Amino acid sequence: MANGQTQPMNPLTEKLRLRLDEDQLTNCMRCGFCLPACPTFAETGLEAESPRGRIALMKAVTDGLMAPDQAFEDQMNHCLGCRACEPACPAGVKYGQLIEQARDAIEDHKRHKPLVRAARHAAFKTVFPHQNRMKWVGRGLRFYQKSGLRAAAHATGAMKLFPKHLRDMEKILPDAAGRGVVEQIGDRHPAKGEKIATVALFRGCIMDVLFTDTNIHTVDLLTAAGFEVVIPREQNCCGALHAHSGEAEGARELARRNIQTFKAAGVDYIVSNAGGCGAILSEYDHLLHEDPQWRDDAVWFAERVVDISDLLVRFGRKLDFGRDDAAGGTEPVRITYQDSCHLRNVMRSSDAPRKLMRQVEGAQYVEMTGADRCCGSAGIYNITQPAMAGQILDHKMEHAEATQASYLLTSNPGCLLQMKHGIEEHGLSGRMEAVHIVDFLHERLNK
Ligand code: SF4
Ligand code: SF4
Repeated sequence: MANGQTQPMNPLTEKLRLRLDEDQLTNCMRCGFCLPACPTFAETGLEAESPRGRIALMKAVTDGLMAPDQAFEDQMNHCLGCRACEPACPAGVKYGQLIEQARDAIEDHKRHKPLVRAARHAAFKTVFPHQNRMKWVGRGLRFYQKSGLRAAAHATGAMKLFPKHLRDMEKILPDAAGRGVVEQIGDRHPAKGEKIATVALFRGCIMDVLFTDTNIHTVDLLTAAGFEVVIPREQNCCGALHAHSGEAEGARELARRNIQTFKAAGVDYIVSNAGGCGAILSEYDHLLHEDPQWRDDAVWFAERVVDISDLLVRFGRKLDFGRDDAAGGTEPVRITYQDSCHLRNVMRSSDAPRKLMRQVEGAQYVEMTGADRCCGSAGIYNITQPAMAGQILDHKMEHAEATQASYLLTSNPGCLLQMKHGIEEHGLSGRMEAVHIVDFLHERLNK
């Protein structure tokens, strides 16, 4: 400045400079190989809606070439966080880390309206971090579903007070069990036959409230394949929702508690049946890499995390999926699969689920066009960005319908709910059912 005074730095710029990994920003060589993999770029054709464009925006802000305005924040929020850009990148740019760092800085800077602030506080600090409170949410949901309240809410039109996308999600919520996997079957399960290894089940918070049967079926598949299964009671939420929503410290705290719990269990593997949870669990080493007290234990933990499909295919005894009293008996059935983005792009597991599906007697596996492309669920993206999520889902369901499959299988609760919603919206109910891969395999397991 001519008068020798320096301009005060925009406070968000300052936060972004502190959080964003400069090496990752400069690793991007602007080649554009990631563009065809990016769903938001495919939908809009806009450079700013691409991984390269978002990295360029982050770099421009940290270089002081632009101020982080509302348009900048919008671009960061439009990203699905699906990380399909990472396997496509020849320079190995860790885009997932960059977007989480950017969102963490934005969240730290943001002054939400009181209602939003209260909702975030309730979700991220009061409910999700506490498994016992999640159970109360499950019991409350069960009461709502079974007591006639739900029917009354629909009959009286009270549901119309909520936005359409929330009404749609409410419609397809499965019945909550009210009791989690440990309450139903206990916390230790011996292997059938000779034991191969001892594994710990990561039960998940949403999984254990809405998909408790899937957790029970996971235990059955694992024990049948030769694994002793323990389910540590003190485990809590994985922290994925926190990490993706700019609550990095909340995610780190949950990670520390999980590491302590699973280390005490002393197991060979930590098994997840939800791609979104498994991905962040497998990255606890990165999440805590700046914490000298937890760094080594975080590496111990992350090295043991594996998705159930991978564990069964790589180390388990081969299972017989030829049960003839499963739905449809031995009638041939057409099945297809929607990848969980985080299972595919972070845990790099896409072959194992397909191998298992191909082992099912009488099932004809059909690959869906764009199965590797995000379905638009992306954590809470379908709630925060309903327009883009809906557009992405429309294309997904066109491809799903073209497979003429009776079953659309997935490996993550968010994707499963999104597929159920897509089937309803596109009039495919009765012709196609969305099912977790574990439930499908379990129903066909010859025990
Ligand atoms: S994470 Fe997904 S939506 Fe975001 S930039 Fe990468 S490919 Fe695009
Ligand atoms: S592929 Fe990697 S290096 Fe190339 S533009 Fe995309 S993020 Fe940058």
